[in-house]
Amino acid sequence: MVRKDILDALRTYTEPFRVTSGSDFSLKHFDPGETLGLKMDKAEALQLLQRGSKWLAMEQEVLYAQDSWSVLLVFQAMDAAGKDGTIKHVMSRVNPQGCDVFSFKQPSAEELSHDFLWRYGRKVPQRGHIGIFNRSYYEEVLVVRVHRHLLDAQKIPPARIGSNIWDERLADIARFEDYLTRQGVVILKFYLNLSYAEQKKRFVDRLDNPDKHWKFSAADIRERRYWDDYMHAYEEAIRATASEAAPWFVVPADNKPFTRLVVAAAIVEAVEKLDLAYPKATQEQMKDLAAAREELGAEAANATEHTQAGGDSGH
Ligand code: ATP
Ligand code: MG
Repeated sequence: MVRKDILDALRTYTEPFRVTSGSDFSLKHFDPGETLGLKMDKAEALQLLQRGSKWLAMEQEVLYAQDSWSVLLVFQAMDAAGKDGTIKHVMSRVNPQGCDVFSFKQPSAEELSHDFLWRYGRKVPQRGHIGIFNRSYYEEVLVVRVHRHLLDAQKIPPARIGSNIWDERLADIARFEDYLTRQGVVILKFYLNLSYAEQKKRFVDRLDNPDKHWKFSAADIRERRYWDDYMHAYEEAIRATASEAAPWFVVPADNKPFTRLVVAAAIVEAVEKLDLAYPKATQEQMKDLAAAREELGAEAANATEHTQAGGDSGH
Protein backbone atom coordinates (compact mmCIF):
# COMPACT_ATOMS: atom_id res chain seq x y z
CA MET A 1 0.00 0.00 0.00
CA VAL A 2 1.30 3.42 -0.91
CA ARG A 3 1.56 5.53 2.24
CA LYS A 4 -0.20 8.79 1.45
CA ASP A 5 1.35 10.66 4.38
CA ILE A 6 4.82 9.66 3.18
CA LEU A 7 4.12 10.72 -0.38
CA ASP A 8 2.80 14.07 0.85
CA ALA A 9 5.93 14.67 2.90
CA LEU A 10 8.18 13.81 -0.04
CA ARG A 11 6.21 16.01 -2.37
CA THR A 12 7.12 19.08 -0.31
CA TYR A 13 10.69 18.67 -1.52
CA THR A 14 10.04 17.50 -5.05
CA GLU A 15 7.01 19.39 -6.36
CA PRO A 16 8.63 22.83 -6.63
CA PHE A 17 11.40 21.42 -8.82
CA ARG A 18 9.59 18.87 -10.96
CA VAL A 19 9.12 19.77 -14.63
CA THR A 20 6.67 17.60 -16.57
CA SER A 21 5.87 19.90 -19.44
CA GLY A 22 8.20 22.07 -21.41
CA SER A 23 5.75 24.55 -22.86
CA ASP A 24 6.51 27.48 -20.55
CA PHE A 25 9.74 26.24 -19.05
CA SER A 26 12.46 28.75 -18.29
CA LEU A 27 15.48 28.39 -16.05
CA LYS A 28 14.77 31.92 -14.87
CA HIS A 29 11.97 30.54 -12.72
CA PHE A 30 14.37 28.33 -10.74
CA ASP A 31 16.63 29.74 -8.06
CA PRO A 32 19.87 27.74 -7.59
CA GLY A 33 20.01 28.99 -3.99
CA GLU A 34 16.50 27.84 -3.03
CA THR A 35 16.19 25.84 0.22
CA LEU A 36 12.44 26.23 0.78
CA GLY A 37 13.00 28.20 3.92
CA LEU A 38 14.77 25.27 5.55
CA LYS A 39 17.81 26.60 7.31
CA MET A 40 19.52 23.37 6.36
CA ASP A 41 21.37 22.86 9.51
CA LYS A 42 23.95 20.33 8.34
CA ALA A 43 23.20 17.75 11.02
CA GLU A 44 19.47 17.91 10.40
CA ALA A 45 19.84 17.63 6.64
CA LEU A 46 22.14 14.67 7.09
CA GLN A 47 19.64 12.93 9.33
CA LEU A 48 16.86 13.43 6.79
CA LEU A 49 19.09 12.23 4.01
CA GLN A 50 20.10 9.15 5.98
CA ARG A 51 16.45 8.29 6.45
CA GLY A 52 15.87 8.76 2.74
CA SER A 53 18.74 6.55 1.70
CA LYS A 54 17.77 3.86 4.22
CA TRP A 55 14.32 3.87 2.74
CA LEU A 56 15.67 3.69 -0.75
CA ALA A 57 17.76 0.69 0.25
CA MET A 58 14.64 -1.10 1.46
CA GLU A 59 12.74 -0.26 -1.68
CA GLN A 60 15.57 -1.38 -3.86
CA GLU A 61 15.43 -4.83 -2.25
CA VAL A 62 11.81 -5.17 -3.34
CA LEU A 63 12.56 -3.80 -6.80
CA TYR A 64 15.25 -6.43 -7.14
CA ALA A 65 13.01 -9.23 -5.87
CA GLN A 66 10.24 -8.20 -8.28
CA ASP A 67 12.60 -8.27 -11.23
CA SER A 68 10.23 -6.31 -13.41
CA TRP A 69 10.47 -2.53 -13.12
CA SER A 70 13.82 -0.79 -13.34
CA VAL A 71 14.87 2.76 -12.53
CA LEU A 72 17.10 5.02 -14.61
CA LEU A 73 18.47 8.11 -12.91
CA VAL A 74 20.02 10.67 -15.23
CA PHE A 75 22.35 13.29 -13.76
CA GLN A 76 23.33 16.36 -15.73
CA ALA A 77 25.03 19.50 -14.51
CA MET A 78 27.72 22.07 -15.07
CA ASP A 79 31.11 21.26 -13.54
CA ALA A 80 31.38 21.44 -9.74
CA ALA A 81 27.62 21.23 -9.27
CA GLY A 82 28.09 18.15 -7.09
CA LYS A 83 26.95 15.23 -9.28
CA ASP A 84 29.45 12.79 -7.82
CA GLY A 85 28.80 13.69 -4.19
CA THR A 86 25.04 13.55 -4.68
CA ILE A 87 25.22 10.11 -6.26
CA LYS A 88 27.53 8.89 -3.50
CA HIS A 89 25.35 10.14 -0.65
CA VAL A 90 21.96 9.24 -2.03
CA MET A 91 22.96 5.71 -3.02
CA SER A 92 25.14 5.09 0.04
CA ARG A 93 23.05 2.28 1.49
CA VAL A 94 21.82 0.64 -1.67
CA ASN A 95 22.97 -2.91 -2.36
CA PRO A 96 25.69 -2.57 -5.04
CA GLN A 97 24.47 -5.78 -6.69
CA GLY A 98 21.29 -4.07 -7.83
CA CYS A 99 22.77 -0.74 -8.75
CA ASP A 100 24.95 0.23 -11.72
CA VAL A 101 26.64 3.59 -12.20
CA PHE A 102 27.93 4.68 -15.60
CA SER A 103 29.95 7.82 -16.21
CA PHE A 104 29.86 8.98 -19.79
CA LYS A 105 32.94 10.86 -20.95
CA GLN A 106 34.22 11.78 -24.40
CA PRO A 107 33.16 8.99 -26.76
CA SER A 108 35.66 6.41 -28.00
CA ALA A 109 36.42 5.74 -31.68
CA GLU A 110 34.13 2.71 -31.54
CA GLU A 111 31.31 4.76 -30.03
CA LEU A 112 31.74 7.48 -32.64
CA SER A 113 31.26 4.86 -35.33
CA HIS A 114 27.67 4.21 -34.20
CA ASP A 115 24.43 6.15 -33.98
CA PHE A 116 24.40 8.65 -31.13
CA LEU A 117 22.18 6.66 -28.74
CA TRP A 118 24.11 3.44 -29.18
CA ARG A 119 26.45 3.64 -26.21
CA TYR A 120 23.68 4.71 -23.83
CA GLY A 121 21.11 2.12 -24.88
CA ARG A 122 23.51 -0.66 -23.97
CA LYS A 123 23.74 0.59 -20.39
CA VAL A 124 20.04 0.94 -19.63
CA PRO A 125 19.46 -0.92 -16.35
CA GLN A 126 18.15 -4.45 -16.52
CA ARG A 127 14.86 -5.27 -14.80
CA GLY A 128 15.03 -5.01 -11.02
CA HIS A 129 18.05 -2.71 -11.15
CA ILE A 130 18.70 0.95 -10.52
CA GLY A 131 20.94 2.48 -13.18
CA ILE A 132 22.66 5.81 -12.77
CA PHE A 133 23.89 7.83 -15.71
CA ASN A 134 26.52 10.30 -14.54
CA ARG A 135 26.18 12.43 -17.68
CA SER A 136 24.09 10.81 -20.35
CA TYR A 137 22.67 10.98 -23.87
CA TYR A 138 21.81 14.59 -23.03
CA GLU A 139 25.47 15.45 -23.63
CA GLU A 140 24.61 14.86 -27.30
CA VAL A 141 22.46 18.01 -27.24
CA LEU A 142 24.56 19.92 -24.70
CA VAL A 143 28.34 19.72 -25.11
CA VAL A 144 27.96 18.62 -28.73
CA ARG A 145 25.61 21.52 -29.42
CA VAL A 146 27.89 24.05 -27.71
CA HIS A 147 31.00 22.72 -29.50
CA ARG A 148 29.93 22.07 -33.04
CA HIS A 149 33.19 20.32 -34.06
CA LEU A 150 32.16 17.39 -31.84
CA LEU A 151 29.27 16.77 -34.19
CA ASP A 152 31.66 16.64 -37.15
CA ALA A 153 33.57 13.88 -35.36
CA GLN A 154 30.43 11.71 -35.34
CA LYS A 155 30.80 10.75 -39.01
CA ILE A 156 27.16 11.41 -39.85
CA PRO A 157 26.46 11.68 -43.59
CA PRO A 158 26.28 15.42 -44.39
CA ALA A 159 22.90 14.87 -46.03
CA ARG A 160 21.56 13.98 -42.58
CA ILE A 161 22.78 17.16 -40.91
CA GLY A 162 20.22 19.87 -41.47
CA SER A 163 19.39 23.09 -39.68
CA ASN A 164 16.94 21.19 -37.44
CA ILE A 165 19.50 18.73 -36.16
CA TRP A 166 19.11 19.70 -32.49
CA ASP A 167 15.34 19.61 -32.53
CA GLU A 168 15.52 16.26 -34.29
CA ARG A 169 17.91 14.88 -31.69
CA LEU A 170 15.71 16.11 -28.89
CA ALA A 171 12.71 14.45 -30.51
CA ASP A 172 14.72 11.23 -30.83
CA ILE A 173 15.63 11.41 -27.14
CA ALA A 174 12.01 12.01 -26.14
CA ARG A 175 10.96 8.99 -28.23
CA PHE A 176 13.74 6.88 -26.75
CA GLU A 177 12.53 7.77 -23.26
CA ASP A 178 8.90 7.01 -24.20
CA TYR A 179 10.02 3.64 -25.45
CA LEU A 180 11.91 2.87 -22.26
CA THR A 181 9.12 4.00 -19.94
CA ARG A 182 6.67 1.80 -21.84
CA GLN A 183 9.08 -1.05 -21.18
CA GLY A 184 8.87 -0.44 -17.43
CA VAL A 185 11.95 1.72 -16.99
CA VAL A 186 11.15 4.52 -14.58
CA ILE A 187 13.16 7.55 -15.73
CA LEU A 188 14.04 10.50 -13.52
CA LYS A 189 16.25 13.26 -14.84
CA PHE A 190 18.13 15.60 -12.56
CA TYR A 191 19.62 18.89 -13.61
CA LEU A 192 21.70 20.15 -10.70
CA ASN A 193 21.09 23.85 -11.06
CA LEU A 194 24.27 25.63 -9.97
CA SER A 195 24.67 29.40 -10.18
CA TYR A 196 27.48 31.04 -12.11
CA ALA A 197 28.71 32.71 -8.91
CA GLU A 198 28.71 29.50 -6.86
CA GLN A 199 30.63 27.65 -9.58
CA LYS A 200 33.34 30.28 -9.36
CA LYS A 201 33.44 29.92 -5.57
CA ARG A 202 33.87 26.16 -5.85
CA PHE A 203 36.60 26.48 -8.48
CA VAL A 204 38.50 28.97 -6.32
CA ASP A 205 38.11 26.62 -3.37
CA ARG A 206 39.67 23.84 -5.45
CA LEU A 207 42.63 26.09 -6.26
CA ASP A 208 43.09 27.14 -2.64
CA ASN A 209 42.77 23.73 -1.06
CA PRO A 210 45.59 21.23 -1.78
CA ASP A 211 43.28 18.30 -0.96
CA LYS A 212 41.02 19.42 -3.77
CA HIS A 213 43.70 20.06 -6.40
CA TRP A 214 43.00 16.67 -7.95
CA LYS A 215 39.50 17.87 -8.76
CA PHE A 216 40.76 20.90 -10.63
CA SER A 217 40.78 20.75 -14.38
CA ALA A 218 41.82 23.59 -16.68
CA ALA A 219 39.16 22.35 -19.11
CA ASP A 220 36.45 23.18 -16.56
CA ILE A 221 37.55 26.82 -16.53
CA ARG A 222 37.45 26.86 -20.33
CA GLU A 223 33.91 25.44 -20.37
CA ARG A 224 32.80 28.17 -17.98
CA ARG A 225 33.33 30.67 -20.82
CA TYR A 226 30.45 28.99 -22.63
CA TRP A 227 28.06 29.29 -19.68
CA ASP A 228 25.31 31.11 -21.59
CA ASP A 229 25.45 28.66 -24.48
CA TYR A 230 25.10 25.80 -22.03
CA MET A 231 22.14 27.44 -20.28
CA HIS A 232 20.45 27.86 -23.65
CA ALA A 233 21.13 24.23 -24.55
CA TYR A 234 19.82 23.02 -21.17
CA GLU A 235 16.68 25.08 -21.53
CA GLU A 236 15.99 23.70 -24.98
CA ALA A 237 16.67 20.16 -23.79
CA ILE A 238 14.36 20.38 -20.79
CA ARG A 239 11.64 22.05 -22.87
CA ALA A 240 11.69 19.30 -25.46
CA THR A 241 11.93 16.30 -23.14
CA ALA A 242 10.05 17.08 -19.91
CA SER A 243 7.07 14.76 -19.58
CA GLU A 244 4.89 13.13 -16.93
CA ALA A 245 6.48 9.79 -17.64
CA ALA A 246 10.06 11.07 -17.65
CA PRO A 247 10.14 14.25 -15.59
CA TRP A 248 13.04 16.62 -15.08
CA PHE A 249 13.95 17.89 -11.65
CA VAL A 250 15.67 21.26 -11.69
CA VAL A 251 17.40 20.82 -8.35
CA PRO A 252 18.88 23.85 -6.55
CA ALA A 253 22.60 23.11 -6.36
CA ASP A 254 24.16 26.01 -4.47
CA ASN A 255 23.49 24.27 -1.15
CA LYS A 256 24.79 20.70 -1.24
CA PRO A 257 22.79 19.19 1.65
CA PHE A 258 19.60 20.53 0.10
CA THR A 259 20.50 19.17 -3.35
CA ARG A 260 20.95 15.70 -1.92
CA LEU A 261 17.72 15.87 0.00
CA VAL A 262 15.66 16.80 -3.07
CA VAL A 263 17.25 14.07 -5.18
CA ALA A 264 16.70 11.42 -2.49
CA ALA A 265 13.09 12.52 -2.05
CA ALA A 266 12.41 12.34 -5.79
CA ILE A 267 13.78 8.82 -6.07
CA VAL A 268 11.98 7.50 -2.99
CA GLU A 269 8.75 9.11 -4.18
CA ALA A 270 9.00 7.55 -7.63
CA VAL A 271 9.71 4.07 -6.33
CA GLU A 272 7.11 4.38 -3.57
CA LYS A 273 4.52 5.20 -6.24
CA LEU A 274 5.17 1.86 -7.92
CA ASP A 275 3.62 0.31 -4.82
CA LEU A 276 5.88 -2.70 -4.94
CA ALA A 277 5.57 -5.74 -2.72
CA TYR A 278 7.71 -8.84 -2.43
CA PRO A 279 6.47 -11.39 -4.95
CA LYS A 280 4.03 -13.90 -3.40
CA ALA A 281 4.99 -17.55 -3.69
CA THR A 282 2.84 -19.62 -6.06
CA GLN A 283 1.14 -22.80 -4.85
CA GLU A 284 3.84 -24.78 -6.56
CA GLN A 285 6.54 -22.81 -4.73
CA MET A 286 4.68 -23.25 -1.42
CA LYS A 287 4.85 -27.00 -1.94
CA ASP A 288 8.61 -26.73 -2.53
CA LEU A 289 8.97 -24.67 0.61
CA ALA A 290 7.08 -27.25 2.67
CA ALA A 291 9.20 -30.08 1.26
CA ALA A 292 12.38 -28.18 2.03
CA ARG A 293 11.23 -27.54 5.60
CA GLU A 294 10.51 -31.24 6.02
CA GLU A 295 13.88 -32.29 4.68
CA LEU A 296 15.78 -29.89 6.95
CA GLY A 297 13.68 -31.06 9.92
CA ALA A 298 14.43 -34.70 9.20
CA GLU A 299 18.11 -33.87 9.05
CA ALA A 300 18.03 -32.55 12.60
CA ALA A 301 16.22 -35.68 13.81
CA ASN A 302 18.73 -38.23 12.53
CA ALA A 303 21.75 -36.01 12.97
CA THR A 304 24.88 -37.55 11.50
CA GLU A 305 28.31 -36.06 11.62
CA HIS A 306 29.53 -34.32 8.51
CA THR A 307 33.02 -33.14 7.92
CA GLN A 308 33.55 -29.78 6.29
CA ALA A 309 34.98 -29.99 2.79
CA GLY A 310 38.53 -28.71 2.88
CA GLY A 311 38.51 -28.78 6.68
CA ASP A 312 41.25 -29.91 9.03
CA SER A 313 42.33 -33.42 8.01
CA GLY A 314 43.85 -34.17 11.42
CA HIS A 315 47.56 -33.74 10.64
P1 ATP B 1 34.37 14.86 -12.80
O1 ATP B 1 35.01 16.08 -13.38
O2 ATP B 1 33.60 15.13 -11.56
O3 ATP B 1 35.27 13.69 -12.69
P2 ATP B 1 32.96 14.75 -15.28
O4 ATP B 1 31.66 14.11 -15.63
O5 ATP B 1 33.06 16.24 -15.46
O6 ATP B 1 33.24 14.36 -13.79
P3 ATP B 1 35.29 14.63 -16.89
O7 ATP B 1 36.17 13.50 -17.27
O8 ATP B 1 35.85 15.83 -16.21
O9 ATP B 1 34.08 14.02 -16.06
O10 ATP B 1 34.57 15.18 -18.18
C1 ATP B 1 33.92 14.38 -19.09
C2 ATP B 1 33.75 15.21 -20.32
O11 ATP B 1 33.23 14.42 -21.35
C3 ATP B 1 32.82 16.38 -20.12
O12 ATP B 1 33.44 17.56 -20.46
C4 ATP B 1 31.68 16.07 -21.06
O13 ATP B 1 31.12 17.22 -21.60
C5 ATP B 1 32.36 15.21 -22.08
N1 ATP B 1 31.39 14.38 -22.81
C6 ATP B 1 30.46 13.59 -22.31
N2 ATP B 1 29.72 13.04 -23.28
C7 ATP B 1 30.21 13.52 -24.44
C8 ATP B 1 29.87 13.34 -25.80
N3 ATP B 1 28.87 12.54 -26.16
N4 ATP B 1 30.58 13.98 -26.73
C9 ATP B 1 31.60 14.78 -26.36
N5 ATP B 1 31.98 15.00 -25.10
C10 ATP B 1 31.29 14.38 -24.15
MG1 MG C 1 34.80 17.37 -15.00
